[in-house]
Amino acid sequence: MIEKILPGIFRIELPLPDLSLQAVNTYLLKGKKRSLLIDSGMNRPECKKALNNALQELDIKLKDVDFFITHLHEDHFGLAPEMAAASSKIYINAPEAAFWGVPGRWKEGFAHGKRNGFPAAEVDRFIRETPEFLKNLPLEEMKGAVEAYTQQKAPRGRIQICGEGETFNIGAYSLQTIMTPGHSSGHLCLYEPQQKLLFAGDHILETITPAIFLWPGEDRNPLREYLASLDKVAALDVNLVLPGHRRPFKDHFGRVLELKKHHLQREHEIASVLNTDGGGGKNALKIASRVSWNIPPPWEQFTMELKWMALAETLAHLKFMEYQKRVTSKLLGDGIEYYYYVPKA
Ligand SMILES: [Zn+2]
Repeated sequence: MIEKILPGIFRIELPLPDLSLQAVNTYLLKGKKRSLLIDSGMNRPECKKALNNALQELDIKLKDVDFFITHLHEDHFGLAPEMAAASSKIYINAPEAAFWGVPGRWKEGFAHGKRNGFPAAEVDRFIRETPEFLKNLPLEEMKGAVEAYTQQKAPRGRIQICGEGETFNIGAYSLQTIMTPGHSSGHLCLYEPQQKLLFAGDHILETITPAIFLWPGEDRNPLREYLASLDKVAALDVNLVLPGHRRPFKDHFGRVLELKKHHLQREHEIASVLNTDGGGGKNALKIASRVSWNIPPPWEQFTMELKWMALAETLAHLKFMEYQKRVTSKLLGDGIEYYYYVPKA
């Protein structure tokens, strides 16, 4: 599906049939010589076919397309390495490229799952089975791009690292990069100040609450980052938000307020879970099992993958509440970390 947003700007919706997300948006900015595709879709036949058809319809050759990736989640980045021609550039952020570019790095987090109450057998299974997404990533190219970036050298491959305040001039439009970490560690938005457009990736979506994950073992405070990034985009003058999923929308400021409210409500919910059973310590998975999730099956029927994601969302909240001094944690002799609520003084 192609939707014309403005002259030379198109939204191309790519299907994700068996995922609850249903579809992912890519945006094509058509330039005189080179065009820019914002996000690529997932590396699967339906996306590839739909993207190829759309480019053909718009009379654009892949060799003339560069890719700008808002974040390195597989629905946004998966297809880029496969589609990008030798003459194409793929712009990605440094924190995520540095993380994924190290082979085997992804395994580290899983081991920490055990201290959050995750079943050891499941943790071991996760470590054994390399995620499909990673099998197709050009890890060497990504590593090379990060090295070139840190040494301030010109990148040799297709992949180029992109940070805050860089400019892309395509046709009549001039886009600026804005770092908005939270949903992922190096998430980037693109802002067009003339038309007041915000290409938002998964930073703000109209009807979906972007997941904020703290993966076990990770040393970040992603919810704190996310709330700061919400303030950052709330301060922009925006006419139209062009998000990574679902339809474009207008009231970005109202949506930022709703998202903040959602996280505050979840914080209250976690506080009340911590206060049950006389306020005795609980591990993060136990807390996650008592939070209300916005997906149909009851907790007992969650797949282990879903439980892992719920755990990561819960950890993001616990970390933020610890930072606010509303929660403390203790690693006990059984190797499991227990969380406690700290009442207001
Ligand atoms: Zn997404």
